[in-house]
Amino acid sequence: MNKKDRIIALCKAAEAMAHGHFVPDIPVGDDDVGCLGRSLKKLSRSLQKQAEKHQSLYRIMVECHLNLRLIDILNHIYESFQHHLPYDRISLALLDSDGNKLKLHWVRACYDKLELDTGYYASATHHTVKTILTAGKELVIDDLKVYLEQHPESSLVAAACKEGIQSCLICPLIATGKPAGFILFSSRKKNVFKKLHRDLSLQIASQLAVIIERTRLYKNIKLNRQLIAQKKTLQQKVTHDALTGLFNRPAIFDRLRKDILRARRGGFGIAVIMIDIDHFKQINDRYGHQTGDAVLVEIAERLTQSARAHEYIGRYGGEEFLAIVSPYDQDGALRAAERFRETIANEAIHSGEVSIPITISLGVAIARTPELLEENLLIKAADEALYAAKHHGRNRVELAQLPCPESETARLVI
Ligand code: GH3
Ligand code: MG
Ligand code: MG
Repeated sequence: MNKKDRIIALCKAAEAMAHGHFVPDIPVGDDDVGCLGRSLKKLSRSLQKQAEKHQSLYRIMVECHLNLRLIDILNHIYESFQHHLPYDRISLALLDSDGNKLKLHWVRACYDKLELDTGYYASATHHTVKTILTAGKELVIDDLKVYLEQHPESSLVAAACKEGIQSCLICPLIATGKPAGFILFSSRKKNVFKKLHRDLSLQIASQLAVIIERTRLYKNIKLNRQLIAQKKTLQQKVTHDALTGLFNRPAIFDRLRKDILRARRGGFGIAVIMIDIDHFKQINDRYGHQTGDAVLVEIAERLTQSARAHEYIGRYGGEEFLAIVSPYDQDGALRAAERFRETIANEAIHSGEVSIPITISLGVAIARTPELLEENLLIKAADEALYAAKHHGRNRVELAQLPCPESETARLVI
Protein backbone atom coordinates (compact mmCIF):
# COMPACT_ATOMS: atom_id res chain seq x y z
CA MET A 1 0.00 0.00 0.00
CA ASN A 2 1.49 3.38 -0.95
CA LYS A 3 1.80 6.24 1.50
CA LYS A 4 -1.25 8.10 0.16
CA ASP A 5 -3.47 4.99 0.44
CA ARG A 6 -2.22 4.35 4.00
CA ILE A 7 -3.06 7.94 5.01
CA ILE A 8 -6.55 7.46 3.51
CA ALA A 9 -6.87 4.17 5.50
CA LEU A 10 -5.84 5.95 8.72
CA CYS A 11 -8.44 8.69 8.07
CA LYS A 12 -11.12 5.99 7.56
CA ALA A 13 -10.04 4.22 10.77
CA ALA A 14 -10.28 7.48 12.75
CA GLU A 15 -13.78 8.03 11.29
CA ALA A 16 -14.81 4.49 12.27
CA MET A 17 -13.54 5.01 15.83
CA ALA A 18 -15.51 8.24 16.05
CA HIS A 19 -18.59 6.10 15.38
CA GLY A 20 -17.74 3.56 18.08
CA HIS A 21 -16.14 0.98 15.79
CA PHE A 22 -13.00 0.00 17.70
CA VAL A 23 -11.50 -2.77 15.55
CA PRO A 24 -10.83 -0.87 12.35
CA ASP A 25 -8.27 -1.99 9.84
CA ILE A 26 -5.25 0.18 10.70
CA PRO A 27 -2.08 -0.12 8.63
CA VAL A 28 1.10 0.04 10.73
CA GLY A 29 4.75 0.19 9.74
CA ASP A 30 8.19 1.58 10.54
CA ASP A 31 7.96 4.88 8.71
CA ASP A 32 6.20 7.96 10.12
CA VAL A 33 2.76 6.99 8.71
CA GLY A 34 3.22 3.48 10.16
CA CYS A 35 4.05 5.02 13.59
CA LEU A 36 0.91 7.11 13.37
CA GLY A 37 -0.98 3.88 12.63
CA ARG A 38 0.45 2.24 15.79
CA SER A 39 -0.56 5.22 17.94
CA LEU A 40 -4.02 5.15 16.41
CA LYS A 41 -4.31 1.42 17.19
CA LYS A 42 -3.32 2.11 20.83
CA LEU A 43 -5.88 4.88 21.02
CA SER A 44 -8.51 2.54 19.56
CA ARG A 45 -7.81 -0.10 22.26
CA SER A 46 -7.95 2.48 25.02
CA LEU A 47 -11.22 3.93 23.69
CA GLN A 48 -12.66 0.45 23.41
CA LYS A 49 -11.81 -0.25 27.06
CA GLN A 50 -13.39 3.03 28.12
CA ALA A 51 -16.56 2.21 26.20
CA GLU A 52 -16.75 -1.27 27.76
CA LYS A 53 -16.25 0.22 31.20
CA HIS A 54 -19.11 2.65 30.66
CA GLN A 55 -21.27 -0.13 29.32
CA SER A 56 -20.61 -2.22 32.44
CA LEU A 57 -21.43 0.69 34.73
CA TYR A 58 -24.56 1.34 32.72
CA ARG A 59 -25.55 -2.33 33.08
CA ILE A 60 -25.18 -2.13 36.87
CA MET A 61 -27.49 0.87 36.81
CA VAL A 62 -30.02 -1.02 34.67
CA GLU A 63 -29.79 -4.09 36.90
CA CYS A 64 -30.31 -1.86 39.90
CA HIS A 65 -33.52 -0.54 38.34
CA LEU A 66 -34.62 -4.05 37.38
CA ASN A 67 -34.40 -4.89 41.08
CA LEU A 68 -32.01 -7.76 40.54
CA ARG A 69 -30.66 -9.47 43.64
CA LEU A 70 -27.59 -7.87 45.20
CA ILE A 71 -25.64 -11.10 44.75
CA ASP A 72 -26.33 -11.09 40.97
CA ILE A 73 -25.10 -7.53 40.69
CA LEU A 74 -21.94 -8.34 42.66
CA ASN A 75 -21.23 -11.30 40.39
CA HIS A 76 -21.80 -9.07 37.43
CA ILE A 77 -19.30 -6.53 38.79
CA TYR A 78 -16.74 -9.29 39.35
CA GLU A 79 -17.10 -10.57 35.79
CA SER A 80 -17.32 -7.20 34.02
CA PHE A 81 -14.45 -5.19 35.43
CA GLN A 82 -11.63 -7.73 35.28
CA HIS A 83 -10.08 -5.89 32.32
CA HIS A 84 -10.44 -2.48 33.95
CA LEU A 85 -9.37 -3.13 37.53
CA PRO A 86 -6.41 -5.33 38.54
CA TYR A 87 -8.20 -7.38 41.24
CA ASP A 88 -8.20 -11.08 41.86
CA ARG A 89 -10.65 -10.83 44.72
CA ILE A 90 -13.68 -8.60 45.48
CA SER A 91 -15.38 -8.46 48.87
CA LEU A 92 -18.46 -6.68 50.11
CA ALA A 93 -18.43 -5.76 53.80
CA LEU A 94 -21.49 -4.19 55.42
CA LEU A 95 -21.97 -2.43 58.72
CA ASP A 96 -24.67 -3.88 60.95
CA SER A 97 -27.77 -1.80 61.82
CA ASP A 98 -26.23 -0.15 64.89
CA GLY A 99 -22.96 0.51 63.05
CA ASN A 100 -20.77 -1.41 65.51
CA LYS A 101 -19.69 -4.35 63.40
CA LEU A 102 -18.42 -4.73 59.87
CA LYS A 103 -19.28 -8.12 58.38
CA LEU A 104 -18.14 -9.76 55.15
CA HIS A 105 -21.35 -10.42 53.23
CA TRP A 106 -19.98 -11.56 49.93
CA VAL A 107 -16.58 -12.67 48.63
CA ARG A 108 -15.41 -13.86 45.24
CA ALA A 109 -11.82 -14.59 44.28
CA CYS A 110 -9.94 -16.30 41.46
CA TYR A 111 -8.31 -18.63 44.02
CA ASP A 112 -9.63 -21.03 46.65
CA LYS A 113 -8.02 -20.72 50.05
CA LEU A 114 -9.73 -17.78 51.71
CA GLU A 115 -8.66 -16.56 55.13
CA LEU A 116 -11.22 -13.76 55.01
CA ASP A 117 -14.43 -15.48 54.03
CA THR A 118 -18.14 -14.62 54.18
CA GLY A 119 -19.23 -14.15 57.78
CA TYR A 120 -15.87 -12.78 58.95
CA TYR A 121 -16.40 -9.63 60.95
CA ALA A 122 -14.36 -6.84 62.44
CA SER A 123 -15.23 -4.12 64.87
CA ALA A 124 -16.14 -0.79 63.31
CA THR A 125 -13.59 0.73 65.71
CA HIS A 126 -10.82 -1.22 63.95
CA HIS A 127 -8.11 1.30 62.95
CA THR A 128 -8.36 0.78 59.16
CA VAL A 129 -12.14 0.60 59.17
CA LYS A 130 -12.36 3.75 61.28
CA THR A 131 -9.90 5.60 59.04
CA ILE A 132 -12.00 5.00 55.93
CA LEU A 133 -15.30 5.62 57.72
CA THR A 134 -14.07 8.93 59.11
CA ALA A 135 -12.51 10.08 55.83
CA GLY A 136 -15.51 8.86 53.79
CA LYS A 137 -13.25 8.27 50.77
CA GLU A 138 -11.36 5.42 49.15
CA LEU A 139 -8.10 4.03 50.48
CA VAL A 140 -5.35 2.27 48.57
CA ILE A 141 -2.89 0.07 50.42
CA ASP A 142 -0.01 -0.56 48.02
CA ASP A 143 1.86 -3.03 50.19
CA LEU A 144 -0.07 -4.87 52.88
CA LYS A 145 3.10 -6.29 54.52
CA VAL A 146 4.45 -2.78 55.10
CA TYR A 147 1.03 -1.68 56.32
CA LEU A 148 0.95 -4.63 58.77
CA GLU A 149 4.37 -3.63 60.12
CA GLN A 150 2.94 -0.17 60.81
CA HIS A 151 -0.27 -1.61 62.30
CA PRO A 152 0.74 -4.97 63.82
CA GLU A 153 -2.44 -5.10 65.94
CA SER A 154 -4.64 -5.41 62.82
CA SER A 155 -5.93 -8.98 62.69
CA LEU A 156 -7.86 -8.10 59.53
CA VAL A 157 -4.72 -7.10 57.64
CA ALA A 158 -2.82 -10.06 59.11
CA ALA A 159 -5.49 -12.44 57.75
CA ALA A 160 -5.37 -10.71 54.35
CA CYS A 161 -1.56 -11.10 54.26
CA LYS A 162 -1.91 -14.77 55.18
CA GLU A 163 -4.25 -15.19 52.21
CA GLY A 164 -1.52 -13.75 49.97
CA ILE A 165 -3.14 -10.39 49.37
CA GLN A 166 -0.48 -7.75 48.80
CA SER A 167 -2.45 -4.66 47.86
CA CYS A 168 -6.02 -3.45 48.00
CA LEU A 169 -8.37 -0.68 47.07
CA ILE A 170 -11.16 -0.05 49.58
CA CYS A 171 -14.16 2.13 48.71
CA PRO A 172 -16.78 3.19 51.23
CA LEU A 173 -20.41 2.68 50.23
CA ILE A 174 -22.15 5.90 51.10
CA ALA A 175 -25.93 5.57 51.06
CA THR A 176 -28.09 8.56 52.04
CA GLY A 177 -25.02 10.34 53.43
CA LYS A 178 -24.14 7.49 55.81
CA PRO A 179 -21.54 4.74 55.23
CA ALA A 180 -23.21 1.36 54.72
CA GLY A 181 -19.99 -0.63 54.31
CA PHE A 182 -17.18 -1.15 51.80
CA ILE A 183 -16.35 -2.79 48.54
CA LEU A 184 -12.79 -4.11 48.55
CA PHE A 185 -10.77 -4.91 45.46
CA SER A 186 -7.64 -6.83 46.33
CA SER A 187 -4.66 -8.25 44.49
CA ARG A 188 -1.89 -10.70 45.24
CA LYS A 189 0.49 -8.22 43.60
CA LYS A 190 1.90 -5.01 45.11
CA ASN A 191 1.30 -1.47 43.82
CA VAL A 192 -1.35 -2.31 41.22
CA PHE A 193 -4.10 0.17 42.04
CA LYS A 194 -3.62 3.52 40.26
CA LYS A 195 -5.52 6.79 40.08
CA LEU A 196 -7.77 5.64 37.18
CA HIS A 197 -8.67 2.53 39.21
CA ARG A 198 -9.70 4.70 42.16
CA ASP A 199 -12.07 6.70 39.93
CA LEU A 200 -13.70 3.62 38.45
CA SER A 201 -14.06 1.85 41.80
CA LEU A 202 -15.74 4.94 43.25
CA GLN A 203 -18.27 4.90 40.41
CA ILE A 204 -18.98 1.20 41.06
CA ALA A 205 -19.27 1.89 44.81
CA SER A 206 -21.76 4.72 44.30
CA GLN A 207 -24.03 2.46 42.21
CA LEU A 208 -23.70 -0.35 44.72
CA ALA A 209 -24.55 1.96 47.62
CA VAL A 210 -27.86 2.85 45.93
CA ILE A 211 -28.70 -0.85 45.51
CA ILE A 212 -27.80 -1.66 49.13
CA GLU A 213 -29.88 1.23 50.41
CA ARG A 214 -32.79 0.03 48.31
CA THR A 215 -32.37 -3.58 49.49
CA ARG A 216 -32.32 -2.44 53.13
CA LEU A 217 -35.35 -0.24 52.59
CA TYR A 218 -37.17 -3.15 50.94
CA LYS A 219 -36.22 -5.46 53.83
CA ASN A 220 -37.52 -2.88 56.30
CA ILE A 221 -40.78 -2.54 54.40
CA LYS A 222 -41.10 -6.34 54.28
CA LEU A 223 -40.34 -6.62 57.99
CA ASN A 224 -42.83 -3.87 58.77
CA ARG A 225 -45.51 -5.63 56.74
CA GLN A 226 -44.79 -8.89 58.56
CA LEU A 227 -44.98 -7.15 61.93
CA ILE A 228 -48.27 -5.45 61.02
CA ALA A 229 -49.69 -8.80 59.84
CA GLN A 230 -48.53 -10.51 63.06
CA LYS A 231 -50.04 -7.71 65.15
CA LYS A 232 -53.34 -8.08 63.26
CA THR A 233 -53.37 -11.85 63.83
CA LEU A 234 -52.61 -11.32 67.50
CA GLN A 235 -55.31 -8.64 67.82
CA GLN A 236 -57.75 -10.97 66.06
CA LYS A 237 -56.90 -13.73 68.56
CA VAL A 238 -57.26 -11.44 71.55
CA THR A 239 -60.59 -9.95 70.52
CA HIS A 240 -62.29 -12.81 68.68
CA ASP A 241 -63.81 -16.09 69.72
CA ALA A 242 -61.76 -19.01 68.37
CA LEU A 243 -64.75 -21.19 67.47
CA THR A 244 -67.21 -18.76 65.89
CA GLY A 245 -64.92 -15.89 64.86
CA LEU A 246 -67.32 -13.43 66.51
CA PHE A 247 -66.16 -10.76 68.99
CA ASN A 248 -65.43 -12.55 72.27
CA ARG A 249 -67.01 -11.49 75.58
CA PRO A 250 -64.42 -8.84 76.58
CA ALA A 251 -64.42 -7.40 73.05
CA ILE A 252 -68.22 -7.09 72.76
CA PHE A 253 -68.33 -5.47 76.22
CA ASP A 254 -65.61 -3.10 75.12
CA ARG A 255 -67.74 -2.24 72.08
CA LEU A 256 -70.76 -1.69 74.33
CA ARG A 257 -68.81 0.71 76.59
CA LYS A 258 -67.59 2.68 73.59
CA ASP A 259 -71.08 2.84 72.10
CA ILE A 260 -72.55 4.00 75.41
CA LEU A 261 -70.01 6.86 75.57
CA ARG A 262 -70.71 7.75 71.94
CA ALA A 263 -74.47 7.68 72.55
CA ARG A 264 -74.09 9.95 75.62
CA ARG A 265 -72.05 12.42 73.61
CA GLY A 266 -74.35 12.24 70.58
CA GLY A 267 -77.58 12.30 72.57
CA PHE A 268 -79.00 9.18 70.94
CA GLY A 269 -80.09 5.82 72.30
CA ILE A 270 -78.74 2.30 71.89
CA ALA A 271 -80.17 -1.19 72.27
CA VAL A 272 -78.73 -4.53 73.36
CA ILE A 273 -80.11 -7.92 72.37
CA MET A 274 -79.36 -11.03 74.42
CA ILE A 275 -79.66 -14.17 72.29
CA ASP A 276 -79.80 -17.79 73.54
CA ILE A 277 -80.14 -20.99 71.54
CA ASP A 278 -83.22 -22.99 72.48
CA HIS A 279 -82.70 -26.50 73.88
CA PHE A 280 -79.11 -26.54 72.76
CA LYS A 281 -78.17 -29.15 75.33
CA GLN A 282 -80.41 -31.63 73.49
CA ILE A 283 -78.42 -31.10 70.29
CA ASN A 284 -75.19 -31.96 72.08
CA ASP A 285 -76.83 -34.94 73.73
CA ARG A 286 -78.35 -36.26 70.50
CA TYR A 287 -75.68 -35.50 67.87
CA GLY A 288 -72.52 -35.06 69.93
CA HIS A 289 -70.45 -32.08 70.96
CA GLN A 290 -68.75 -31.74 67.55
CA THR A 291 -72.09 -31.31 65.78
CA GLY A 292 -73.02 -28.89 68.56
CA ASP A 293 -69.92 -26.86 67.70
CA ALA A 294 -70.79 -26.89 63.99
CA VAL A 295 -74.29 -25.62 64.85
CA LEU A 296 -72.78 -22.80 66.93
CA VAL A 297 -70.55 -21.82 64.00
CA GLU A 298 -73.49 -21.84 61.55
CA ILE A 299 -75.66 -19.76 63.90
CA ALA A 300 -72.82 -17.23 64.33
CA GLU A 301 -72.42 -17.07 60.55
CA ARG A 302 -76.14 -16.48 59.95
CA LEU A 303 -76.33 -13.79 62.64
CA THR A 304 -73.29 -12.02 61.14
CA GLN A 305 -74.75 -12.23 57.64
CA SER A 306 -78.06 -10.73 58.69
CA ALA A 307 -76.51 -7.95 60.84
CA ARG A 308 -76.46 -4.40 59.45
CA ALA A 309 -73.41 -2.12 59.52
CA HIS A 310 -74.36 -0.52 62.86
CA GLU A 311 -75.17 -3.85 64.55
CA TYR A 312 -72.36 -5.71 66.38
CA ILE A 313 -72.55 -9.31 67.50
CA GLY A 314 -70.36 -11.11 70.03
CA ARG A 315 -70.28 -14.47 71.79
CA TYR A 316 -71.44 -13.69 75.31
CA GLY A 317 -70.62 -17.21 76.52
CA GLY A 318 -71.55 -20.87 75.79
CA GLU A 319 -74.59 -20.78 73.49
CA GLU A 320 -75.42 -17.15 74.19
CA PHE A 321 -74.76 -14.13 72.02
CA LEU A 322 -74.99 -10.40 72.56
CA ALA A 323 -75.92 -7.94 69.82
CA ILE A 324 -75.58 -4.16 70.06
CA VAL A 325 -77.68 -1.87 67.90
CA SER A 326 -76.07 1.56 67.87
CA PRO A 327 -77.36 4.10 67.23
CA TYR A 328 -80.82 2.89 68.03
CA ASP A 329 -83.62 4.21 65.84
CA GLN A 330 -87.37 3.91 66.27
CA ASP A 331 -88.18 0.20 66.58
CA GLY A 332 -84.87 -0.64 64.89
CA ALA A 333 -83.77 -2.97 67.69
CA LEU A 334 -86.98 -4.98 67.62
CA ARG A 335 -86.77 -5.28 63.85
CA ALA A 336 -83.12 -6.39 64.16
CA ALA A 337 -84.04 -9.00 66.80
CA GLU A 338 -86.84 -10.33 64.63
CA ARG A 339 -84.47 -10.50 61.65
CA PHE A 340 -82.00 -12.56 63.76
CA ARG A 341 -84.75 -14.88 64.98
CA GLU A 342 -85.99 -15.51 61.44
CA THR A 343 -82.57 -16.19 59.96
CA ILE A 344 -82.18 -19.08 62.41
CA ALA A 345 -85.74 -20.41 62.59
CA ASN A 346 -86.54 -20.24 58.87
CA GLU A 347 -84.10 -22.91 57.79
CA ALA A 348 -82.83 -26.02 59.54
CA ILE A 349 -79.06 -26.37 59.98
CA HIS A 350 -77.42 -29.13 57.98
CA SER A 351 -74.51 -30.91 59.55
CA GLY A 352 -73.22 -33.99 57.78
CA GLU A 353 -76.21 -36.24 57.09
CA VAL A 354 -78.50 -34.59 59.59
CA SER A 355 -80.82 -31.62 59.31
CA ILE A 356 -81.37 -29.90 62.65
CA PRO A 357 -84.22 -27.43 63.16
CA ILE A 358 -83.00 -24.72 65.54
CA THR A 359 -84.58 -21.68 67.16
CA ILE A 360 -83.30 -18.87 69.34
CA SER A 361 -84.89 -16.70 72.01
CA LEU A 362 -84.08 -13.02 72.28
CA GLY A 363 -84.35 -10.33 74.95
CA VAL A 364 -84.14 -6.70 73.86
CA ALA A 365 -83.30 -3.74 76.11
CA ILE A 366 -83.46 -0.21 74.72
CA ALA A 367 -81.89 2.83 76.39
CA ARG A 368 -83.49 5.94 74.98
CA THR A 369 -82.53 8.42 77.70
CA PRO A 370 -79.07 9.25 79.10
CA GLU A 371 -79.79 7.82 82.59
CA LEU A 372 -80.53 4.40 81.02
CA LEU A 373 -77.25 4.40 79.12
CA GLU A 374 -75.57 2.13 81.61
CA GLU A 375 -73.89 -1.15 80.79
CA ASN A 376 -75.02 -3.35 83.72
CA LEU A 377 -78.56 -2.00 83.67
CA LEU A 378 -78.93 -2.76 79.94
CA ILE A 379 -77.44 -6.26 80.19
CA LYS A 380 -79.60 -7.14 83.20
CA ALA A 381 -82.76 -5.86 81.49
CA ALA A 382 -81.98 -7.77 78.25
CA ASP A 383 -81.27 -10.92 80.28
CA GLU A 384 -84.61 -10.64 82.06
CA ALA A 385 -86.40 -10.13 78.73
CA LEU A 386 -84.62 -13.24 77.40
CA TYR A 387 -85.80 -15.18 80.44
CA ALA A 388 -89.32 -14.00 79.71
CA ALA A 389 -88.98 -15.15 76.06
CA LYS A 390 -87.94 -18.60 77.27
CA HIS A 391 -90.77 -18.62 79.78
CA HIS A 392 -93.31 -17.69 77.13
CA GLY A 393 -92.42 -20.58 74.86
CA ARG A 394 -89.02 -19.78 73.21
CA ASN A 395 -88.38 -18.86 69.53
CA ARG A 396 -89.53 -15.32 70.28
CA VAL A 397 -88.41 -11.75 70.96
CA GLU A 398 -89.26 -10.02 74.22
CA LEU A 399 -88.74 -6.33 75.03
CA ALA A 400 -87.42 -5.37 78.46
CA GLN A 401 -89.43 -3.17 80.77
CA LEU A 402 -87.38 -0.02 80.99
CA PRO A 403 -88.81 3.42 81.65
CA CYS A 404 -89.12 5.29 78.38
CA PRO A 405 -90.64 8.59 77.23
CA GLU A 406 -93.39 6.86 75.32
CA SER A 407 -94.05 4.69 78.45
CA GLU A 408 -93.81 1.71 76.19
CA THR A 409 -94.52 -1.58 77.92
CA ALA A 410 -93.10 -4.99 77.25
CA ARG A 411 -94.69 -6.63 74.31
CA LEU A 412 -94.45 -9.84 72.41
CA VAL A 413 -93.36 -9.54 68.86
CA ILE A 414 -94.49 -12.91 67.61
P1 GH3 B 1 -82.64 -23.35 76.92
O1 GH3 B 1 -83.55 -23.35 75.77
O2 GH3 B 1 -83.31 -23.20 78.23
O3 GH3 B 1 -81.55 -22.31 76.76
O4 GH3 B 1 -81.93 -24.76 76.94
P2 GH3 B 1 -80.45 -25.11 76.65
O5 GH3 B 1 -80.33 -26.57 76.54
O6 GH3 B 1 -79.99 -24.35 75.45
O7 GH3 B 1 -79.71 -24.53 77.89
P3 GH3 B 1 -78.70 -25.14 78.91
O8 GH3 B 1 -78.13 -23.99 79.69
O9 GH3 B 1 -79.37 -26.23 79.71
O10 GH3 B 1 -77.60 -25.82 78.04
C1 GH3 B 1 -76.66 -25.09 77.29
C2 GH3 B 1 -75.71 -26.09 76.65
O11 GH3 B 1 -74.82 -25.45 75.78
C3 GH3 B 1 -74.88 -26.82 77.67
C4 GH3 B 1 -73.49 -26.78 77.14
O12 GH3 B 1 -72.86 -28.02 77.11
C5 GH3 B 1 -73.69 -26.27 75.73
N1 GH3 B 1 -72.56 -25.52 75.29
C6 GH3 B 1 -72.06 -24.38 75.80
N2 GH3 B 1 -70.98 -24.00 75.10
C7 GH3 B 1 -70.78 -24.93 74.12
C8 GH3 B 1 -69.82 -25.10 73.08
O13 GH3 B 1 -68.89 -24.30 72.88
N3 GH3 B 1 -69.94 -26.17 72.25
C9 GH3 B 1 -70.94 -27.08 72.41
N4 GH3 B 1 -71.02 -28.09 71.57
N5 GH3 B 1 -71.84 -26.95 73.39
C10 GH3 B 1 -71.76 -25.90 74.22
MG1 MG C 1 -77.94 -20.44 77.96
MG1 MG D 1 -79.95 -22.23 75.55
